[in-house]
Amino acid sequence: MDTASGWVIVGIDNGGTSNNATVLDGSGRFLVDGLVETPSRVTEGPEVAVDAMASALDNVLELTGVPLETVRGVGLDTPGPASADGVISSKGSTNFAQPAWRGFDVRGALEARLGLPVVYNNDANAAALYAHHVRFGDAAAGHSSISVIVGTGLDGGVVESGRVVKGAAGMAGELGHVQIPMHGLLAEGQPRPVCNCGFVGDAESIASLTGIERNLLPYWLTRFEDHELRVVGDRKQAAKQVRALGEREDPLALHIFEQQAMAIGRLFTIAANFTDPDTYFLGGGVVHTAPKFRQWFLAKVREHTALREEQQRVATLALVPDLDMAGARGAAIAAMDALQAPVRARTSL
Ligand SMILES: [Zn+2]
Repeated sequence: MDTASGWVIVGIDNGGTSNNATVLDGSGRFLVDGLVETPSRVTEGPEVAVDAMASALDNVLELTGVPLETVRGVGLDTPGPASADGVISSKGSTNFAQPAWRGFDVRGALEARLGLPVVYNNDANAAALYAHHVRFGDAAAGHSSISVIVGTGLDGGVVESGRVVKGAAGMAGELGHVQIPMHGLLAEGQPRPVCNCGFVGDAESIASLTGIERNLLPYWLTRFEDHELRVVGDRKQAAKQVRALGEREDPLALHIFEQQAMAIGRLFTIAANFTDPDTYFLGGGVVHTAPKFRQWFLAKVREHTALREEQQRVATLALVPDLDMAGARGAAIAAMDALQAPVRARTSL
C-alpha cells in the first residue's frame, strides 16, 4: 500500500441500484479515479443491503490493495430523507420502499456489521461537501458554499466554515422545498406549480424533472399547439426529452429552462441573504449539456441571482465537479473530518 499516513477512510455512496466506493488516505488523496460499483440490493431490505455495503468495502480494498486493518472509519451516504445520523424516515422513501427500512438506523447497522466507526450524510450533503473541498482545498474551513443539484427532484446542501449544516432533525439544506417568489416567473394564465411535498411554488416544483413533468410541460404545451411533444403519450418520457430539445434551441424547451433558471436564481438570492456563501454550486442534468446551452443556462441563472455589489465582488457560481463520484468522495471527507478531530470535538462541548 502506498499511503502517506498509513491509514485510510472508505467512502460508500449508496444508490438505488449500485454502491459506489472510494478510498481516501490520511494525506487527503483519493486512491481510485473512477466509479467502483457493486450492486446495492436496497430493494431486498436492510439486512441484505447492509451486507452489500460491506461487500462494497471489501471490493474497493481489494482493488486498491489496502489492508482492512488500516481503515480508520467509513463515510456513508444514502438518498434521504433520513435523520442527521442516518435513521431512514419513518415514512420510508423512494429508494427505501420496503417496509423494514422505515425508521431503520442504517449508519448504526453498518457500524455494527463492520466493527468500524461510520459517519453518515445524505447524498446531496455529501456531494455539496465534495464540491466545497475541491474548490477550497486546505482553505475549506475558511469558506462557505451552497449546492443545488437538479435531477428528478432538487437536492441541496449548505456548507458553513467547511462543515455541512445538518440541522436539528437532519433536514437543513433541503433547498428544493424552499418557497420562492412566483411573481414575474410564471407566464400569463400559468397555474401555480405544486411540489410532491405539498408546497406550492417551491424551487423543486419548477427546477426539477418532476417539475417539468407535472407543472411546466403541461402548461407550455397549451401554448405550442403543434409541438412535437404533444404526440408523446407518456408524460414522463416527454419531460425527459425537453433537455435535448433545449440544446437544439426549441422555443418551448427554452421557455421551460428559462423558468428553471429563474427559480434557481431566486433560490440563490435567498441564500445570499441567509448564509451569504462564497460559492454557489450548480449540478445535475441541466449542466451536463452541450457547452452553448450550458453557458446560456448559467447566464440566465446569474441574471436572476440578485447579489449586492459587495457580494458580487467575492462570490462565484461554479459547477459541482465529478457528480457521479461526489457522494462517495464527500462521505469520505466528512468521515475524515469527524474521525480526525476527536479532541477538538470534545473540547467544544
Ligand atoms: Zn417541495
